[in-house]
Amino acid sequence: MSARVLVVDDISTNVKLLEAKLSAEYFSVVTALNGPEALAICERGEADIVLLDVMMPGMDGFEVCRRLKAGPTTAHIPVVMVTALDQPSDRLKGLDAGADDFLTKPLDDTALFARVRSLVRLKSVTDELRNRALASRRLGINDPLAAAAAESGLNGRILLIEDREAVVERLQTALSAFHAVESEADANMALVRAAEGDFDAILVSLDLKGHDGLRLCSQLRSLERTRNVSVLLLGESEDRARILRGLEIGAHDFLIRPIDRNELLARVRTQVRRKRFTERLRDSVQSSMEMAVMDQLTGLHNRRFMDSRMTAMFNESALRARSLSMLVLDVDHFKSVNDSWGHDAGDEVLREFADRIRACTRGIDLVARMGGEEVVVVLPDTTADAAFAVAERIRERVESTGFAIQSSARSIAVTVSIGVACRRAGDASPAEMMKRADDALYRAKAAGRNRVMLAAA
Ligand code: GH3
Ligand code: MG
Ligand code: MG
Repeated sequence: MSARVLVVDDISTNVKLLEAKLSAEYFSVVTALNGPEALAICERGEADIVLLDVMMPGMDGFEVCRRLKAGPTTAHIPVVMVTALDQPSDRLKGLDAGADDFLTKPLDDTALFARVRSLVRLKSVTDELRNRALASRRLGINDPLAAAAAESGLNGRILLIEDREAVVERLQTALSAFHAVESEADANMALVRAAEGDFDAILVSLDLKGHDGLRLCSQLRSLERTRNVSVLLLGESEDRARILRGLEIGAHDFLIRPIDRNELLARVRTQVRRKRFTERLRDSVQSSMEMAVMDQLTGLHNRRFMDSRMTAMFNESALRARSLSMLVLDVDHFKSVNDSWGHDAGDEVLREFADRIRACTRGIDLVARMGGEEVVVVLPDTTADAAFAVAERIRERVESTGFAIQSSARSIAVTVSIGVACRRAGDASPAEMMKRADDALYRAKAAGRNRVMLAAA
Protein backbone atom coordinates (compact mmCIF):
# COMPACT_ATOMS: atom_id res chain seq x y z
CA MET A 1 0.00 0.00 0.00
CA SER A 2 1.73 3.17 -1.06
CA ALA A 3 -0.93 5.72 -0.26
CA ARG A 4 0.11 9.32 0.11
CA VAL A 5 -0.53 10.63 3.60
CA LEU A 6 -0.50 14.35 4.19
CA VAL A 7 0.61 15.24 7.71
CA VAL A 8 -0.43 18.72 8.81
CA ASP A 9 0.95 20.13 12.06
CA ASP A 10 2.41 23.50 12.98
CA ILE A 11 5.10 21.86 15.13
CA SER A 12 7.79 20.46 12.92
CA THR A 13 8.97 17.81 15.39
CA ASN A 14 5.44 16.35 15.38
CA VAL A 15 5.52 16.29 11.60
CA LYS A 16 8.90 14.59 11.55
CA LEU A 17 7.85 11.95 14.08
CA LEU A 18 4.73 11.05 12.12
CA GLU A 19 6.63 11.09 8.88
CA ALA A 20 9.12 8.58 10.26
CA LYS A 21 6.43 6.26 11.61
CA LEU A 22 4.39 6.28 8.44
CA SER A 23 7.37 5.91 6.13
CA ALA A 24 8.45 2.86 8.11
CA GLU A 25 5.06 1.34 7.24
CA TYR A 26 5.63 2.14 3.56
CA PHE A 27 3.25 5.04 3.25
CA SER A 28 4.57 7.95 1.29
CA VAL A 29 4.34 11.10 3.32
CA VAL A 30 3.71 14.70 2.33
CA THR A 31 3.89 17.40 4.97
CA ALA A 32 2.48 20.85 5.60
CA LEU A 33 3.09 23.23 8.50
CA ASN A 34 -0.12 25.20 8.13
CA GLY A 35 -3.65 25.14 6.77
CA PRO A 36 -3.25 27.06 3.50
CA GLU A 37 -0.29 24.89 2.53
CA ALA A 38 -2.33 21.75 3.26
CA LEU A 39 -5.25 23.00 1.18
CA ALA A 40 -2.98 23.71 -1.76
CA ILE A 41 -1.49 20.20 -1.64
CA CYS A 42 -4.95 18.63 -1.56
CA GLU A 43 -6.18 20.77 -4.41
CA ARG A 44 -3.26 19.59 -6.51
CA GLY A 45 -4.44 16.03 -5.84
CA GLU A 46 -1.26 15.08 -4.06
CA ALA A 47 -2.79 13.49 -0.96
CA ASP A 48 -4.90 10.37 -0.42
CA ILE A 49 -5.60 10.99 3.21
CA VAL A 50 -5.01 13.89 5.61
CA LEU A 51 -3.86 13.73 9.23
CA LEU A 52 -4.84 17.12 10.51
CA ASP A 53 -3.76 18.75 13.74
CA VAL A 54 -6.60 20.70 15.33
CA MET A 55 -4.57 23.36 17.11
CA MET A 56 -2.71 25.52 14.63
CA PRO A 57 -2.18 29.26 14.59
CA GLY A 58 -4.00 31.15 11.86
CA MET A 59 -6.30 28.67 10.19
CA ASP A 60 -7.11 25.91 12.68
CA GLY A 61 -7.77 22.27 11.81
CA PHE A 62 -11.55 22.63 11.86
CA GLU A 63 -11.41 25.38 9.28
CA VAL A 64 -9.04 23.41 7.07
CA CYS A 65 -11.35 20.42 7.29
CA ARG A 66 -14.43 22.51 6.49
CA ARG A 67 -12.73 23.94 3.41
CA LEU A 68 -11.54 20.53 2.23
CA LYS A 69 -15.04 19.09 2.58
CA ALA A 70 -16.55 22.06 0.76
CA GLY A 71 -14.22 21.84 -2.24
CA PRO A 72 -15.47 19.72 -5.14
CA THR A 73 -11.99 18.39 -5.87
CA THR A 74 -11.08 17.70 -2.24
CA ALA A 75 -14.36 16.66 -0.59
CA HIS A 76 -13.67 12.95 -1.07
CA ILE A 77 -10.27 12.98 0.66
CA PRO A 78 -10.59 11.36 4.09
CA VAL A 79 -9.60 13.62 6.97
CA VAL A 80 -8.43 12.38 10.36
CA MET A 81 -8.46 15.04 13.05
CA VAL A 82 -5.70 14.81 15.61
CA THR A 83 -7.17 16.07 18.89
CA ALA A 84 -6.01 16.41 22.46
CA LEU A 85 -7.18 13.69 24.82
CA ASP A 86 -8.74 16.13 27.27
CA GLN A 87 -10.87 17.83 24.65
CA PRO A 88 -13.78 15.50 23.81
CA SER A 89 -15.75 18.48 22.54
CA ASP A 90 -13.17 18.80 19.78
CA ARG A 91 -14.51 15.58 18.32
CA LEU A 92 -17.98 16.97 18.06
CA LYS A 93 -16.62 20.08 16.37
CA GLY A 94 -14.60 17.81 14.09
CA LEU A 95 -17.66 15.81 13.08
CA ASP A 96 -19.46 19.06 12.35
CA ALA A 97 -16.58 20.15 10.15
CA GLY A 98 -16.89 16.87 8.22
CA ALA A 99 -13.98 14.90 9.70
CA ASP A 100 -13.95 11.21 8.86
CA ASP A 101 -12.16 10.04 11.97
CA PHE A 102 -10.11 11.01 15.01
CA LEU A 103 -6.80 10.30 16.62
CA THR A 104 -5.77 11.35 20.06
CA LYS A 105 -2.43 12.82 21.03
CA PRO A 106 -0.09 11.30 22.05
CA LEU A 107 -0.44 9.12 19.00
CA ASP A 108 -0.57 5.40 19.52
CA ASP A 109 0.90 3.36 16.67
CA THR A 110 -1.82 0.73 16.46
CA ALA A 111 -4.53 3.35 16.28
CA LEU A 112 -2.57 5.44 13.82
CA PHE A 113 -1.98 2.66 11.33
CA ALA A 114 -5.48 1.24 11.72
CA ARG A 115 -7.00 4.66 11.06
CA VAL A 116 -4.80 5.34 8.06
CA ARG A 117 -5.28 1.88 6.53
CA SER A 118 -9.02 1.91 7.00
CA LEU A 119 -9.40 5.30 5.34
CA VAL A 120 -6.95 4.53 2.56
CA ARG A 121 -9.04 1.46 1.80
CA LEU A 122 -12.15 3.60 1.71
CA LYS A 123 -10.48 6.16 -0.52
CA SER A 124 -9.31 3.57 -3.00
CA VAL A 125 -12.84 2.27 -3.54
CA THR A 126 -14.18 5.80 -3.73
CA ASP A 127 -11.56 6.67 -6.30
CA GLU A 128 -12.47 3.63 -8.32
CA LEU A 129 -16.11 4.68 -8.23
CA ARG A 130 -15.23 8.21 -9.24
CA ASN A 131 -13.12 7.02 -12.13
CA ARG A 132 -15.81 4.75 -13.40
CA ALA A 133 -18.41 7.43 -12.98
CA LEU A 134 -16.25 9.77 -15.06
CA ALA A 135 -15.71 7.08 -17.67
CA SER A 136 -19.40 6.40 -18.04
CA ARG A 137 -20.07 10.11 -18.27
CA ARG A 138 -17.61 10.27 -21.16
CA LEU A 139 -19.58 7.51 -22.84
CA GLY A 140 -22.64 9.68 -22.48
CA ILE A 141 -24.38 7.61 -19.85
CA ASN A 142 -26.32 9.04 -17.00
CA ASP A 143 -24.46 7.06 -14.46
CA PRO A 144 -25.99 5.52 -11.36
CA LEU A 145 -22.68 6.21 -9.67
CA ALA A 146 -23.23 9.82 -8.88
CA ALA A 147 -25.54 8.44 -6.21
CA ALA A 148 -22.88 6.05 -4.99
CA ALA A 149 -20.31 8.82 -4.83
CA ALA A 150 -22.70 10.80 -2.67
CA GLU A 151 -23.17 7.84 -0.33
CA SER A 152 -23.74 9.20 3.16
CA GLY A 153 -22.90 6.11 5.17
CA LEU A 154 -26.09 6.64 7.16
CA ASN A 155 -29.12 4.39 7.64
CA GLY A 156 -26.87 1.37 7.79
CA ARG A 157 -27.89 -2.03 9.06
CA ILE A 158 -25.73 -2.74 12.05
CA LEU A 159 -25.30 -5.92 14.04
CA LEU A 160 -23.86 -5.53 17.51
CA ILE A 161 -22.38 -8.72 18.94
CA GLU A 162 -21.99 -8.04 22.64
CA ASP A 163 -23.19 -9.81 25.77
CA ARG A 164 -22.99 -7.00 28.32
CA GLU A 165 -26.45 -5.54 28.53
CA ALA A 166 -25.44 -2.10 29.70
CA VAL A 167 -22.98 -1.72 26.83
CA VAL A 168 -25.53 -2.97 24.31
CA GLU A 169 -28.01 -0.41 25.51
CA ARG A 170 -25.56 2.48 25.39
CA LEU A 171 -24.19 1.68 21.93
CA GLN A 172 -27.61 0.91 20.56
CA THR A 173 -28.93 4.25 21.76
CA ALA A 174 -26.05 6.13 20.18
CA LEU A 175 -26.19 4.32 16.86
CA SER A 176 -29.95 4.19 16.53
CA ALA A 177 -30.07 7.90 15.81
CA PHE A 178 -28.49 7.17 12.40
CA HIS A 179 -28.77 3.44 11.77
CA ALA A 180 -30.94 0.38 12.23
CA VAL A 181 -29.25 -1.58 14.98
CA GLU A 182 -29.75 -5.18 16.07
CA SER A 183 -27.87 -6.92 18.83
CA GLU A 184 -26.96 -10.49 19.62
CA ALA A 185 -25.29 -11.85 22.73
CA ASP A 186 -24.61 -15.38 21.53
CA ALA A 187 -21.67 -15.78 19.17
CA ASN A 188 -23.03 -18.77 17.29
CA MET A 189 -26.40 -17.17 16.79
CA ALA A 190 -24.60 -14.03 15.72
CA LEU A 191 -22.87 -15.85 12.89
CA VAL A 192 -26.18 -17.23 11.65
CA ARG A 193 -27.82 -13.83 11.83
CA ALA A 194 -24.88 -12.21 10.11
CA ALA A 195 -25.11 -14.66 7.24
CA GLU A 196 -28.85 -14.22 6.90
CA GLY A 197 -29.21 -10.50 7.47
CA ASP A 198 -27.89 -8.03 4.98
CA PHE A 199 -25.73 -6.02 7.37
CA ASP A 200 -23.46 -3.14 6.46
CA ALA A 201 -21.33 -3.30 9.57
CA ILE A 202 -20.87 -5.74 12.43
CA LEU A 203 -19.43 -4.73 15.79
CA VAL A 204 -17.78 -7.63 17.56
CA SER A 205 -16.92 -7.59 21.24
CA LEU A 206 -13.59 -9.18 22.04
CA ASP A 207 -14.80 -9.95 25.56
CA LEU A 208 -17.66 -12.34 24.88
CA LYS A 209 -18.11 -14.90 27.67
CA GLY A 210 -17.04 -18.32 26.52
CA HIS A 211 -16.29 -17.27 23.00
CA ASP A 212 -13.33 -15.85 21.16
CA GLY A 213 -14.32 -12.69 19.33
CA LEU A 214 -11.34 -13.04 17.04
CA ARG A 215 -12.53 -16.43 15.92
CA LEU A 216 -15.91 -14.91 15.13
CA CYS A 217 -14.18 -12.15 13.23
CA SER A 218 -12.26 -14.59 11.08
CA GLN A 219 -15.41 -16.62 10.43
CA LEU A 220 -17.22 -13.49 9.30
CA ARG A 221 -14.41 -12.60 6.94
CA SER A 222 -14.25 -16.05 5.40
CA LEU A 223 -17.95 -16.79 4.92
CA GLU A 224 -19.14 -15.99 1.42
CA ARG A 225 -22.29 -14.32 2.74
CA THR A 226 -20.50 -12.01 5.13
CA ARG A 227 -17.19 -11.46 3.38
CA ASN A 228 -17.90 -7.88 2.41
CA VAL A 229 -19.46 -6.73 5.65
CA SER A 230 -17.39 -4.25 7.60
CA VAL A 231 -16.17 -5.65 10.89
CA LEU A 232 -15.30 -3.43 13.87
CA LEU A 233 -13.74 -4.84 17.02
CA LEU A 234 -14.64 -3.61 20.50
CA GLY A 235 -11.86 -4.11 23.00
CA GLU A 236 -10.12 -2.92 26.15
CA SER A 237 -6.92 -0.97 25.85
CA GLU A 238 -5.05 -3.97 27.29
CA ASP A 239 -6.34 -6.00 24.35
CA ARG A 240 -3.93 -4.29 22.00
CA ALA A 241 -2.26 -7.50 20.84
CA ARG A 242 -5.56 -9.19 20.04
CA ILE A 243 -6.83 -6.11 18.27
CA LEU A 244 -3.75 -6.06 16.10
CA ARG A 245 -4.26 -9.73 15.36
CA GLY A 246 -7.88 -8.95 14.47
CA LEU A 247 -6.85 -6.27 12.01
CA GLU A 248 -4.45 -8.75 10.45
CA ILE A 249 -7.15 -11.34 9.92
CA GLY A 250 -9.41 -8.82 8.27
CA ALA A 251 -11.27 -6.68 10.77
CA HIS A 252 -11.67 -3.22 9.28
CA ASP A 253 -11.34 -1.13 12.39
CA PHE A 254 -11.70 -1.13 16.16
CA LEU A 255 -12.90 0.90 19.11
CA ILE A 256 -11.39 1.01 22.59
CA ARG A 257 -13.59 1.00 25.67
CA PRO A 258 -14.94 3.19 27.12
CA ILE A 259 -16.29 3.93 23.67
CA ASP A 260 -16.54 7.58 22.76
CA ARG A 261 -19.88 8.28 21.13
CA ASN A 262 -18.55 10.51 18.36
CA GLU A 263 -15.73 8.17 17.60
CA LEU A 264 -18.25 5.34 17.38
CA LEU A 265 -20.47 7.28 15.00
CA ALA A 266 -17.62 8.39 12.76
CA ARG A 267 -16.07 4.96 12.53
CA VAL A 268 -19.31 3.09 11.90
CA ARG A 269 -20.25 5.61 9.26
CA THR A 270 -16.94 5.20 7.46
CA GLN A 271 -17.33 1.45 7.50
CA VAL A 272 -20.91 1.56 6.24
CA ARG A 273 -19.72 3.70 3.35
CA ARG A 274 -16.81 1.38 2.63
CA LYS A 275 -19.07 -1.66 2.53
CA ARG A 276 -21.61 0.01 0.27
CA PHE A 277 -18.97 1.37 -2.09
CA THR A 278 -17.36 -2.03 -2.40
CA GLU A 279 -20.68 -3.65 -3.02
CA ARG A 280 -21.72 -1.18 -5.67
CA LEU A 281 -18.40 -1.56 -7.36
CA ARG A 282 -18.89 -5.28 -7.44
CA ASP A 283 -22.49 -5.36 -8.60
CA SER A 284 -24.10 -2.42 -10.26
CA VAL A 285 -20.97 -0.72 -11.45
CA GLN A 286 -19.74 -3.78 -13.19
CA SER A 287 -23.01 -4.32 -14.94
CA SER A 288 -23.64 -0.66 -15.62
CA MET A 289 -20.31 -0.42 -17.36
CA GLU A 290 -21.27 -3.43 -19.42
CA MET A 291 -24.68 -2.01 -20.04
CA ALA A 292 -23.03 1.12 -21.27
CA VAL A 293 -21.41 -0.71 -24.15
CA MET A 294 -23.46 -3.89 -24.54
CA ASP A 295 -26.83 -4.66 -25.98
CA GLN A 296 -28.74 -6.50 -23.29
CA LEU A 297 -30.78 -8.77 -25.54
CA THR A 298 -28.04 -10.13 -27.76
CA GLY A 299 -24.84 -9.50 -25.83
CA LEU A 300 -23.45 -7.71 -28.89
CA HIS A 301 -22.03 -4.24 -28.55
CA ASN A 302 -24.56 -1.46 -28.73
CA ARG A 303 -24.87 1.48 -31.03
CA ARG A 304 -23.26 3.91 -28.63
CA PHE A 305 -20.16 1.77 -28.47
CA MET A 306 -20.14 1.33 -32.22
CA ASP A 307 -20.34 5.08 -32.74
CA SER A 308 -17.41 5.71 -30.44
CA ARG A 309 -15.21 2.87 -31.77
CA MET A 310 -16.04 3.22 -35.44
CA THR A 311 -14.31 6.56 -35.92
CA ALA A 312 -11.19 5.30 -34.19
CA MET A 313 -11.08 2.19 -36.38
CA PHE A 314 -11.68 4.27 -39.48
CA ASN A 315 -8.93 6.75 -38.64
CA GLU A 316 -6.53 3.97 -37.76
CA SER A 317 -7.03 2.26 -41.11
CA ALA A 318 -6.67 5.54 -42.98
CA LEU A 319 -3.49 6.40 -41.11
CA ARG A 320 -1.88 3.05 -41.80
CA ALA A 321 -3.35 2.83 -45.31
CA ARG A 322 -4.99 -0.48 -44.47
CA SER A 323 -8.28 -1.72 -45.78
CA LEU A 324 -11.43 -1.53 -43.69
CA SER A 325 -14.81 -2.99 -44.54
CA MET A 326 -18.23 -3.07 -43.02
CA LEU A 327 -21.40 -5.09 -43.27
CA VAL A 328 -24.89 -3.89 -42.56
CA LEU A 329 -27.20 -6.83 -41.87
CA ASP A 330 -30.98 -6.78 -41.61
CA VAL A 331 -33.24 -9.76 -40.96
CA ASP A 332 -35.78 -10.24 -43.73
CA HIS A 333 -39.44 -9.78 -42.89
CA PHE A 334 -38.66 -9.80 -39.24
CA LYS A 335 -41.87 -8.02 -38.48
CA SER A 336 -43.78 -11.10 -39.58
CA VAL A 337 -41.84 -13.25 -37.08
CA ASN A 338 -43.21 -11.02 -34.36
CA ASP A 339 -46.65 -10.97 -35.92
CA SER A 340 -46.88 -14.74 -36.35
CA TRP A 341 -45.07 -16.03 -33.29
CA GLY A 342 -45.02 -13.19 -30.84
CA HIS A 343 -42.45 -10.75 -29.58
CA ASP A 344 -40.69 -13.33 -27.38
CA ALA A 345 -40.10 -15.55 -30.39
CA GLY A 346 -38.75 -12.48 -32.16
CA ASP A 347 -36.29 -12.00 -29.31
CA GLU A 348 -35.20 -15.62 -29.53
CA VAL A 349 -34.51 -15.17 -33.22
CA LEU A 350 -32.47 -12.03 -32.56
CA ARG A 351 -30.32 -13.82 -29.98
CA GLU A 352 -29.68 -16.73 -32.30
CA PHE A 353 -29.01 -14.32 -35.17
CA ALA A 354 -26.37 -12.61 -33.03
CA ASP A 355 -24.77 -15.95 -32.13
CA ARG A 356 -24.47 -16.97 -35.75
CA ILE A 357 -22.87 -13.65 -36.71
CA ARG A 358 -20.43 -14.01 -33.84
CA ALA A 359 -19.52 -17.49 -35.03
CA CYS A 360 -18.63 -16.11 -38.47
CA THR A 361 -16.55 -13.14 -37.31
CA ARG A 362 -13.17 -12.65 -35.65
CA GLY A 363 -12.36 -11.25 -32.26
CA ILE A 364 -10.98 -8.05 -33.76
CA ASP A 365 -14.17 -7.42 -35.72
CA LEU A 366 -16.61 -5.03 -34.13
CA VAL A 367 -20.14 -6.43 -34.06
CA ALA A 368 -22.91 -4.16 -32.85
CA ARG A 369 -26.66 -4.20 -32.76
CA MET A 370 -27.78 -0.87 -34.16
CA GLY A 371 -31.37 -1.34 -33.05
CA GLY A 372 -34.25 -3.61 -34.04
CA GLU A 373 -33.03 -6.45 -36.27
CA GLU A 374 -30.16 -4.50 -37.78
CA VAL A 375 -26.56 -5.38 -37.00
CA VAL A 376 -23.34 -3.75 -38.19
CA VAL A 377 -19.99 -5.51 -38.45
CA VAL A 378 -16.76 -3.55 -38.92
CA LEU A 379 -13.84 -5.60 -40.23
CA PRO A 380 -10.34 -4.15 -39.89
CA ASP A 381 -7.67 -5.16 -42.41
CA THR A 382 -10.31 -6.67 -44.63
CA THR A 383 -10.76 -6.01 -48.35
CA ALA A 384 -14.17 -5.73 -50.00
CA ASP A 385 -13.88 -9.22 -51.48
CA ALA A 386 -12.98 -10.80 -48.16
CA ALA A 387 -15.81 -8.90 -46.47
CA PHE A 388 -18.19 -10.12 -49.14
CA ALA A 389 -17.12 -13.68 -48.37
CA VAL A 390 -17.76 -13.17 -44.67
CA ALA A 391 -21.20 -11.76 -45.45
CA GLU A 392 -22.00 -14.67 -47.72
CA ARG A 393 -20.95 -17.07 -44.97
CA ILE A 394 -23.29 -15.39 -42.51
CA ARG A 395 -26.15 -15.31 -44.99
CA GLU A 396 -25.73 -19.01 -45.63
CA ARG A 397 -25.46 -19.88 -41.97
CA VAL A 398 -28.70 -18.04 -41.27
CA GLU A 399 -30.57 -19.63 -44.15
CA SER A 400 -29.24 -23.17 -43.84
CA THR A 401 -30.63 -24.06 -40.42
CA GLY A 402 -33.98 -23.14 -38.93
CA PHE A 403 -34.13 -20.87 -35.84
CA ALA A 404 -35.47 -22.46 -32.68
CA ILE A 405 -38.28 -20.54 -31.00
CA GLN A 406 -40.63 -21.19 -28.08
CA SER A 407 -37.75 -22.78 -26.16
CA SER A 408 -36.94 -25.08 -29.06
CA ALA A 409 -40.51 -26.32 -29.37
CA ARG A 410 -40.54 -25.04 -32.92
CA SER A 411 -38.14 -24.04 -35.63
CA ILE A 412 -38.70 -21.37 -38.25
CA ALA A 413 -36.91 -20.31 -41.41
CA VAL A 414 -35.09 -16.98 -41.28
CA THR A 415 -33.10 -15.14 -43.93
CA VAL A 416 -30.95 -12.04 -43.89
CA SER A 417 -29.96 -9.36 -46.39
CA ILE A 418 -26.53 -7.79 -46.18
CA GLY A 419 -24.93 -4.68 -47.65
CA VAL A 420 -21.12 -4.58 -47.87
CA ALA A 421 -18.86 -1.55 -48.35
CA CYS A 422 -15.20 -0.77 -47.86
CA ARG A 423 -13.35 2.42 -47.01
CA ARG A 424 -12.41 4.57 -49.96
CA ALA A 425 -9.28 6.70 -49.91
CA GLY A 426 -11.43 9.79 -50.39
CA ASP A 427 -13.80 9.08 -47.49
CA ALA A 428 -13.66 11.84 -44.90
CA SER A 429 -15.56 9.88 -42.24
CA PRO A 430 -17.03 6.44 -41.58
CA ALA A 431 -20.46 7.87 -42.29
CA GLU A 432 -19.72 7.84 -46.03
CA MET A 433 -18.76 4.19 -45.98
CA MET A 434 -21.80 3.38 -43.90
CA LYS A 435 -24.05 5.18 -46.34
CA ARG A 436 -22.75 2.99 -49.20
CA ALA A 437 -23.28 -0.16 -47.14
CA ASP A 438 -26.83 0.97 -46.35
CA ASP A 439 -27.53 1.62 -50.01
CA ALA A 440 -26.19 -1.83 -50.88
CA LEU A 441 -28.46 -3.36 -48.24
CA TYR A 442 -31.41 -1.51 -49.72
CA ARG A 443 -30.56 -2.94 -53.13
CA ALA A 444 -30.31 -6.45 -51.62
CA LYS A 445 -33.80 -6.04 -50.18
CA ALA A 446 -35.16 -4.67 -53.43
CA ALA A 447 -33.59 -7.51 -55.41
CA GLY A 448 -35.59 -10.08 -53.44
CA ARG A 449 -33.80 -10.37 -50.02
CA ASN A 450 -31.70 -13.26 -48.71
CA ARG A 451 -28.68 -11.94 -50.55
CA VAL A 452 -25.45 -9.97 -50.22
CA MET A 453 -24.78 -6.80 -52.21
CA LEU A 454 -21.39 -5.17 -52.51
CA ALA A 455 -21.11 -1.39 -52.89
CA ALA A 456 -18.77 -0.16 -55.62
CA ALA A 457 -15.24 0.29 -54.24
P1 GH3 B 1 -37.46 -6.09 -44.14
O1 GH3 B 1 -37.29 -7.42 -44.77
O2 GH3 B 1 -37.76 -5.03 -45.13
O3 GH3 B 1 -36.30 -5.76 -43.27
O4 GH3 B 1 -38.76 -6.19 -43.22
P2 GH3 B 1 -38.80 -6.26 -41.66
O5 GH3 B 1 -40.13 -6.72 -41.25
O6 GH3 B 1 -37.66 -7.06 -41.15
O7 GH3 B 1 -38.47 -4.78 -41.26
P3 GH3 B 1 -39.18 -3.72 -40.38
O8 GH3 B 1 -38.15 -2.69 -40.12
O9 GH3 B 1 -40.48 -3.29 -41.01
O10 GH3 B 1 -39.58 -4.43 -39.03
C1 GH3 B 1 -38.68 -4.59 -38.03
C2 GH3 B 1 -39.44 -5.13 -36.85
O11 GH3 B 1 -38.54 -5.44 -35.78
C3 GH3 B 1 -40.41 -4.15 -36.28
C4 GH3 B 1 -40.16 -4.19 -34.77
O12 GH3 B 1 -41.36 -4.42 -34.06
C5 GH3 B 1 -39.27 -5.37 -34.60
N1 GH3 B 1 -38.34 -5.22 -33.50
C6 GH3 B 1 -37.48 -4.21 -33.26
N2 GH3 B 1 -36.76 -4.44 -32.15
C7 GH3 B 1 -37.20 -5.64 -31.66
C8 GH3 B 1 -36.83 -6.42 -30.52
O13 GH3 B 1 -35.95 -6.08 -29.72
N3 GH3 B 1 -37.49 -7.59 -30.33
C9 GH3 B 1 -38.44 -8.03 -31.21
N4 GH3 B 1 -39.05 -9.19 -30.96
N5 GH3 B 1 -38.81 -7.28 -32.26
C10 GH3 B 1 -38.20 -6.13 -32.51
MG1 MG C 1 -35.71 -6.39 -41.49
MG1 MG D 1 -35.45 -3.09 -40.34
